[in-house]
Amino acid sequence: MEYTTRINWINNTAFYFLLIKQEGERLIKLLLCKNCGDIFNLDFIVKSCRCGVTGGKYLDQRLAEYFGDAIPIGIANDSLISAINNQPYDGMGELFKAFVIPVQCHTFIRKEDL
Ligand SMILES: [Zn+2]
Repeated sequence: MEYTTRINWINNTAFYFLLIKQEGERLIKLLLCKNCGDIFNLDFIVKSCRCGVTGGKYLDQRLAEYFGDAIPIGIANDSLISAINNQPYDGMGELFKAFVIPVQCHTFIRKEDL
């Protein structure tokens, strides 16, 4: 698996599996809860923020749904992997691409409830 060889140096198992799970998709989807400020990634089971106002889950590798007063955020997978691979020892951090996903997005859909 190409991703395995590209990131096999990563010691953080949870993060490693996050990237493997996202293989084939160019984005990691996250939610920012406007109520409590938590920013969290999604899974195939519903995950919620600390206050419970927002939550979401993946339906498949591409599609995800969320509920609540949240800002959907995307991180460009390749950009993050590249930044990890180029992590400096000190000084300035390595930038990667993240962005706010539009309100209307056909792959990250806001629902009243999940
Ligand atoms: Zn919250």
